[in-house]
Amino acid sequence: MNAYKFAQQVDIVHQRASELNTQAYSSSEAPSPLLQESLEELNTALEELHVAEEELRQQNEELLIARQALEVERKRYQELFDFAPDAYLVTDIEGKIIEANLTAANLFKISPKFLRGKLLINFIPENQRRAFRCKLSQLHNLEQIQDWEIQMQTRERLCFDAAISIATIRDELGNPKEWRWLVRDISLRKHIEQQIRAMQLQNLQLQEAAKLKSHFLAMMSHELRTPMNVILGFSQLLLRPQYNHFSPQARSMVERIINSAKHLLALIEDILDFSKLEAGRLELKLEEFNLAELVTTVTEELHCLAEQKNLTLHIHVQLQDPIVINDINRVRQILINLLSNGIKFTEVGSVTVEVQELTKDIITLSVQDTGIGIAEADLQNIFQEFRQVDQFLTRKHNGTGLGLSIVDKLVRLMNGAITVKSQLGEGSTFCVQLPRVVAN
Ligand code: ADP
Repeated sequence: MNAYKFAQQVDIVHQRASELNTQAYSSSEAPSPLLQESLEELNTALEELHVAEEELRQQNEELLIARQALEVERKRYQELFDFAPDAYLVTDIEGKIIEANLTAANLFKISPKFLRGKLLINFIPENQRRAFRCKLSQLHNLEQIQDWEIQMQTRERLCFDAAISIATIRDELGNPKEWRWLVRDISLRKHIEQQIRAMQLQNLQLQEAAKLKSHFLAMMSHELRTPMNVILGFSQLLLRPQYNHFSPQARSMVERIINSAKHLLALIEDILDFSKLEAGRLELKLEEFNLAELVTTVTEELHCLAEQKNLTLHIHVQLQDPIVINDINRVRQILINLLSNGIKFTEVGSVTVEVQELTKDIITLSVQDTGIGIAEADLQNIFQEFRQVDQFLTRKHNGTGLGLSIVDKLVRLMNGAITVKSQLGEGSTFCVQLPRVVAN
């Protein structure tokens, strides 16, 4: 009985009781003690009933509030269920859909009311159904299946990749009663995985091609070096005094052969070094030597180049201890590259070499010129192989674009670092930091 009906009943009893009371006391005869006692008891019972009625009303109100709260919660859970990012379904053990959320309906592109009652196998492409049935038969013994990847299809038979997790719900006797399904569309993930695999394969192929290219370059340069040395050797022989019967024209031709052969040999050496450095096959031959002496000798060797262009070559060596451990030929190569670039790209002014101790263990070599400079946008590219800032200018200046890349790789191999500061038209400063002792 609800609180309202109960209150009505109590009111009726209350009315009857007061009628009885009036009747009993309105007659001339006093009511019998038994009637009096009964009436009092009735009154007491009525009061108690009023209290109970009040309590019932209160309980009723509380119940109403609780029910409203429950409804709000139910709606919230329904929404959570419906708008979950994955499809949730409940099927019986035949695979017939009993319940499904909105995501499931959207995934299979079917209205929710038509989804209920359908067999889930309808959403499995025909060529996958055997595997699906087979898996379902295993479910009788399993508690759950996690992330089983299979193809599914929409109502219009559009296939997509799905990852399914299934949990078995059992009755009191332990027999499977229902299955709860979580279906996740993993088409995008699969697509990305496929792309990553293709990229990895491509990467491997590229690495393989790069290795082949380095190997080929090393082989070719080596093969070219031998005949070039022969050409150079024999041409130099032709300039000896025993051949002084050659006309000045013939001697000038021989000199041109020698210069070109030297140039070609230098290029071949660069390619060989570059390919070795790229393949990680270049090893430093470490020894103790005097760095101050090396810098002075190299600068002197390049003096005539600077002179030809009317440039001044300055050298400042400030070393308390000039002894270092490094590969002397490779340090020479770094210096020659930086210095000859400085000379090459400077038309007026000077090129300055400075050697200093940054700390006890680190030495800096810097080469500063007053030449054409490098634009900010090009600064980060100049250490890349084959990179030349301005093809037209560089054509004018010759070069392969390998020099700085080799320098950069050599400096790294020595555990050092190279930096450049430059502004277009304002000259450039290349600064190399090297450890005093290069580790093996
Ligand atoms: P290259 O054989 O062309 O000299 P490098 O690797 O030595 O190759 O140099 C790459 C490019 O960096 C050059 O072509 C040039 O554009 C620029 N560069 C290098 N050194 C200087 C410098 N001292 N002043 C101006 N530009 C330079």
